[in-house]
Amino acid sequence: MLKIYNTLANKKESFKPSRDKRIGLFVCGPTVYDFPHIGHARTYIVFDAIAKYLKDSGFNVFYLQNITDIDDKIINRAKEKNVLWKTIARNFEKEYLKDMKDLGVNSVSKYARATKHIKEIIDQIRWLIKPKYAYKSSDGIYFDISKFKKYGALSGRTVLQAEDAVSRIDEATKKRNKGDFCLWKFWSKDKSEPKWKSPWGLGRPGWHIEDTAIAQKYFGFQYDMHGGGMDLIFPHHEAEIAQMESLSGKSPMAKYWLHTGFLSVGGQKMSKSLGNFITIRDFLKSNPARILRYIVLKSHYRSPLNYEKDTIFNARNDLERIAEFIEKIQNVKSRSQNDKEKFKIDKFKKDFWTVMNDDFNTPKAISVIFEMIREINPLLDRGGIEKEAKKEILNFLKTIDKIFGFIFDAKKEVPENIRKLVKKRDGARQKKDWALADKIRKEIEALGFKIKDTQSGPKIRKI
Ligand code: AMP
Repeated sequence: MLKIYNTLANKKESFKPSRDKRIGLFVCGPTVYDFPHIGHARTYIVFDAIAKYLKDSGFNVFYLQNITDIDDKIINRAKEKNVLWKTIARNFEKEYLKDMKDLGVNSVSKYARATKHIKEIIDQIRWLIKPKYAYKSSDGIYFDISKFKKYGALSGRTVLQAEDAVSRIDEATKKRNKGDFCLWKFWSKDKSEPKWKSPWGLGRPGWHIEDTAIAQKYFGFQYDMHGGGMDLIFPHHEAEIAQMESLSGKSPMAKYWLHTGFLSVGGQKMSKSLGNFITIRDFLKSNPARILRYIVLKSHYRSPLNYEKDTIFNARNDLERIAEFIEKIQNVKSRSQNDKEKFKIDKFKKDFWTVMNDDFNTPKAISVIFEMIREINPLLDRGGIEKEAKKEILNFLKTIDKIFGFIFDAKKEVPENIRKLVKKRDGARQKKDWALADKIRKEIEALGFKIKDTQSGPKIRKI
């Protein structure tokens, strides 16, 4: 039984989806005004692995992610660069999607732009104004947090603490309560600012309302899981709950709330002025994506992750051990069914699923992989492994790879035709037909692979 740490309950809970095997998962997407960094990669690799794990466990997951393509940060960046806000938003959305593709983050069922949901956003604000959850102020429509008694329940803050935290950000506006947040911002008459028609005049949506409007369109008022980085718990997720539960009268909006810990670099928050800011793009210039997937999944998703100088070095070493093992087992001779040296994979499979079912404990799952390697290596060195076991081990690793995405190195993988030639060469060598063996070796090299004969069998590498 899967257990998940639910921020809303402040404890681990058994996972019971509301609609049998169908899961609605919403994860807050990026604000597209710059290149994404490795902190974004942390959050999105985690939810990619979680979605894939849930799918592999038999759930039918609909993974929805919004793209915040309207925001002050986008407008300001456009002013700085003297271009239209849309140029910034579309350009960095494209860069974000490219980075995700390069990282193998491909489990999202639907990316939904905020600006494509203005109608849904206006509808939600209308529903909030009617029963007086929302009101009109001088510069926009605001949500009245005093009307929602549970405000603060997710983050564990009282309304007063919540107000205090928000007031520093938003002091200028005339609001009923300091903590009230903006649903619709009136157009400032600055021509470079985007605007849409609404019953309250020209303007643009606030940040929190885009997520609830998008979620309602695809999931309705209630769904199973909502995720994002820890920084979003307050005020963003708190505000989402206040909006959706007020307008629907249904609770909880999302049954399970999952939050990722922050990634820091050299013990500090990433920042351009500190020189410790690493974009995904820069990282991938000198490292394969599987290294970043490994670094991310080597930590538990809720823990902070500190990226240090030797983080890449250690990850490379660990992945090299996995690669060597795969090469060895792929090339080793399998023994017949009657051979005594059988290997029991079931214990490792059981351990793997047990730790993954315990709040997606990926670091422990990685330890299980290395334990398995440690146990099998001596068997391989002694000359072989039972045929069925070899197949099962490779299949198990393939299943893990579908979720984690760092096990197999696509560049190192040996295609079937090469494998057949290696087998043929092996047969020739056993018959001491050195001329034929040599001819096949040359054929293999001409196809771009190199063979090295070792005690545990031939090793093949892409040239
Ligand atoms: P943003 O584009 O800043 O709205 O962030 C998009 C997502 O990435 C949010 O879920 C953030 O919590 C997450 N995120 C941003 N920075 C980091 C970081 N350093 N570590 C982990 N997650 C982050």
